[in-house]
Amino acid sequence: MTKESSRSEIEILREAINRYNYRYYVLDDPSVPDAEYDRLMRRLLALEAKFPELITPDSPTQRVGDKPLPAFEQVAHEIPMLSLENAFNEEEMHDFERRLKDRLKSDVALEFACEPKLDGVAVSLLYENGLLVRGATRGDGTTGENITQNLRTIASVPLKLVGKAWPVRLEVRGEVYMPKSSFDALNRSAKDAGEKLFVNPRNAAAGSLRQLDSRITASRRLEMCCYGVGLYVGGELPKSHSLVLKQLHKWGFRLNNEIKVVTGIAACIEYYQKLEKKRDRLHYEIDGVVFKVNDLATQKTLGFVSRAPRWAIAFKFPAQEEITRLLDVQFQVGRTGAITPVARLAPVFVGGVTVSNATLHNMDEVVRLDVRKGDSVIIRRAGDVIPQVVRVITERRPKSAKPIRLPSHCPVCGSEIIKTDEEAIARCSGALYCPAQRKQSIKHFASRKAMDIKGLGDKLVEALVDQDLIRTPADLFSLTREQLSDLERMGEKSAQNLLNALSKSKKTSFNRFIYSLGIREVGEANALNLANHFGTLDALMSARETELLEVDDVGPIVAKHIVTFFHQKHNQDTIAALLAAGIDWPAHRKADQAELSLAGKTYVLTGTLEQMTRDEAKARLQALGAKVSGSVSAKTSCLVAGPGAGSKLAKAKSLDIEIIDEASFLSLLARLENK
Ligand code: NAD
Repeated sequence: MTKESSRSEIEILREAINRYNYRYYVLDDPSVPDAEYDRLMRRLLALEAKFPELITPDSPTQRVGDKPLPAFEQVAHEIPMLSLENAFNEEEMHDFERRLKDRLKSDVALEFACEPKLDGVAVSLLYENGLLVRGATRGDGTTGENITQNLRTIASVPLKLVGKAWPVRLEVRGEVYMPKSSFDALNRSAKDAGEKLFVNPRNAAAGSLRQLDSRITASRRLEMCCYGVGLYVGGELPKSHSLVLKQLHKWGFRLNNEIKVVTGIAACIEYYQKLEKKRDRLHYEIDGVVFKVNDLATQKTLGFVSRAPRWAIAFKFPAQEEITRLLDVQFQVGRTGAITPVARLAPVFVGGVTVSNATLHNMDEVVRLDVRKGDSVIIRRAGDVIPQVVRVITERRPKSAKPIRLPSHCPVCGSEIIKTDEEAIARCSGALYCPAQRKQSIKHFASRKAMDIKGLGDKLVEALVDQDLIRTPADLFSLTREQLSDLERMGEKSAQNLLNALSKSKKTSFNRFIYSLGIREVGEANALNLANHFGTLDALMSARETELLEVDDVGPIVAKHIVTFFHQKHNQDTIAALLAAGIDWPAHRKADQAELSLAGKTYVLTGTLEQMTRDEAKARLQALGAKVSGSVSAKTSCLVAGPGAGSKLAKAKSLDIEIIDEASFLSLLARLENK
């Protein structure tokens, strides 16, 4: 590597780092992950170390942060606010200790204060005679922004010091950060409002602090912990950093709970490893550990380099965000037919593992991210959470990048995919037929409220599908005793019992049959309404959307699911096979409404029902002729109230409407159904 080639590389690096600094520090909107930034910075530091004559005072290695925003009044820091030197592995920690000992010309083990490196924004708080008079950002280290009004809104920033014997002027430094829960809530509401999301809690904290309207800051639930003192006039400081922190705590500042003092670098590394294990359980983000020489006199002897103190180091945790290329998007089909786009990535080491897939959740997310095949994307993997695509680096989008489209047909079974505007999730409509949904649809088919096949539990369905003995529910009816008794834990007797149950289940009712098909959004209540309305399977199968809309409780989405279901050739084939196997029901007779015991009555369900689902309760009430409504009014005949009932219960009481609990409801049903 020649000096000349290094010179041009240095220029390119400085240009890129300055650009990234601007996005990160000034706009609070980083364009690349920290890991990428750190790589460039380290490369620049290495080149400058090799050719020190190429170092210029304006190199990003010599500076901290970036210029403050002109929208805020500027604050000159009487004592500069510096950055920290970084270590990325244990060896660099040992180098740090070596350098300290060399400088101090002593081999005595040093005492270090260990502090989580809170991932937020550094602030300076100036107190005069115990009163907060000014709060500022770090800015470029020499000049920051006056954000006093905003800092005043944070509950953990004392407006007035407590206790006694404070110095006349005291500048406290610390980190303002956004707890993970506040960050998630903030992004959730931004998503709902269709606004731009914050990339991570650090940027959300920085963006929240640098608001011109302090009411916005106040709404953001920020916290502050202090980690040191800057200016100090009139009074004495304790002798060590940890005692200074204790003193600050007595004056009313919050300290992080994890802070500890240890001796020697090996103990620092041990602290780091323990905290890394705990990282995901903390309610705030940290990106490493800061180790500070504890003795203040020793700190003074060690002094500073251009942008950081010599007596401290930040040992960073492995990056949780990395950059990689999105090679392709494939669509997976879940057990219930949900179609999930999955990003195939160029393998990247992030969050401690190599990641080559990341979920994109659903098509709304693909649209929101505007992610395309060939894009450079930021991947996040924190703890055990599945890797996510956080953002696209649009500046790096190749011309050939291709938009991602939802396929029209299921990649597993070829059935049509349905995506309604109302639902974020697209679904395969081949429930009965799709191998991806096979187990689920057969379990549903056999369940108590569907075909009620006694003895055909979930485990058995799984075994039958895994051994390829059944593919559709119709195959159940051609199972032989030999096939069944060959299964593990299945004797001759249980095999025969199951065959008997299968045979018995063939005599069913039209509404049960409709329900057992597992058509999306068609629960028991809807199945009964459909049976009542159409009377025969042929009529139902050939119904158009407009006709379906005439059925009680059937809206456009349900109608669309029903039409698509019966439209699929393979669903028609499965239904034909089921009928051929002997499934049959007596002609469906819509009960004469007037004859039914609950005709003319309107029921409302509220609170939790423990013995049955809402849908089952609704279906059973409807079968008895009752109407089931969602709200209580003067027309309500009876309210069924389970635990957790709230406003509906209060309203029913005020209207003097009959109220019954689940136990009375069950006995009512039992009495009327057996009439
Ligand atoms: P830094 O964040 O690495 O370390 C210094 C800061 O640590 C302090 O200013 C303070 O805010 C914070 N800190 C947290 N806990 C602390 C504690 N207990 N004691 C002391 N300080 C504590 O340094 P920096 O100069 O603020 O930023 C550099 C880093 O920022 C880079 O390493 C990179 O990760 C990130 N960055 C990223 C981009 C990007 O584009 N992604 C751009 C610029 C900077």
